[in-house]
Amino acid sequence: MKIADVRVTLADIPVTRPHTMSFTTLHAVNFAFVRVETTDGVTGWGEAACLGGPTWSEESAESVAATIERYVAPWLVGRDASEVEPLRLEMARRVQGNPFARAAVEMALWDLNGKAIGVPVHRLLGGKVRDRVPLSWSLAVADPDAELAEAHAKVALGHRIFKIKTAAHPVAQDAERVRRIREAVGPDVALRADANQGWDRPTALRAIRALEPYRLDFVEQPVPKWDLGGMAEIARSVSVPIMADESCCSPHDAMAIARLGGVSILALKLTKSAGILGTMAIARIAEAAGLGCYVGCMIETSLGTAAYLHVALAATPVTWGCELFGPLLLAGDVVRRPVQYADGAILALDGPGLGVEVDERRLKEWARH
Ligand code: MN
Repeated sequence: MKIADVRVTLADIPVTRPHTMSFTTLHAVNFAFVRVETTDGVTGWGEAACLGGPTWSEESAESVAATIERYVAPWLVGRDASEVEPLRLEMARRVQGNPFARAAVEMALWDLNGKAIGVPVHRLLGGKVRDRVPLSWSLAVADPDAELAEAHAKVALGHRIFKIKTAAHPVAQDAERVRRIREAVGPDVALRADANQGWDRPTALRAIRALEPYRLDFVEQPVPKWDLGGMAEIARSVSVPIMADESCCSPHDAMAIARLGGVSILALKLTKSAGILGTMAIARIAEAAGLGCYVGCMIETSLGTAAYLHVALAATPVTWGCELFGPLLLAGDVVRRPVQYADGAILALDGPGLGVEVDERRLKEWARH
């Protein structure tokens, strides 16, 4: 299992409609795809998806490529790909921060290992505890009528969970959006809100109280990521459960959040947590602290989505479903057979490795030249 080659490809794939969040309006997702090949010719793939530059965090597709090409690939070549944990540790020692870059490499190692021995990644993680994961669709449309039309169309397709991206507009406008969406989808559809750090403490309190009548499952990341105290205080002051996303990247973050209390759900994302092992560590902390988990996304293709999905299948505390809708929002994909959805859920992948096969010709269509 000796690594012979590590290659990074930058690509851009448009979204089928602009995606408006508190911090940016997204028109295309930027990707760094990593291909790791062994001397025996087994290949594994990883992906880092970035929301139109360093907008969600400090990393961009370009920084991911530079980090891997200059600071990971040169020493990774010649190493044994089966030693995922030792390689993770060495990567963390040689590269501070940059979790998206490290995650993309680690993802490729998992894919390689699963493909080499012919088992799905979820089996390497201890086996799946569920066969499908309820899917949330994110409503992030600037025009309120178009947004309602989208919600209607998705309900007709079987979607039963929506996450409404808030804090790009004043509180009164968001409350009116949520009111109209609740009215349109009826009482049996789950609604959640994500502020993406867009409110300060008083605005968050005012906003969450204004949204309370519309029976939200949870409100995600109401305040800036550094304000753990504020998030705990807000969580204790409102009846809606609060979920940490940008605040919860490392197992250390998860520990700090669990110790402060208040917050009841952690959002898991492979890239913000430097890979599958870091994400599973956070899930274990959640389990020990009595917190629930949700699997978020950065709008990945079927490749990255598959990697996130294996964690969603194998991590016991993921009781709040996922938002692995990337392949449904992107204008294109990079695999032969995309991930599958049915009845408002994403279905397990049981093929070897990540369970998807990258089509290099398709990838070339989106790659930068
Ligand atoms: Mn989020």
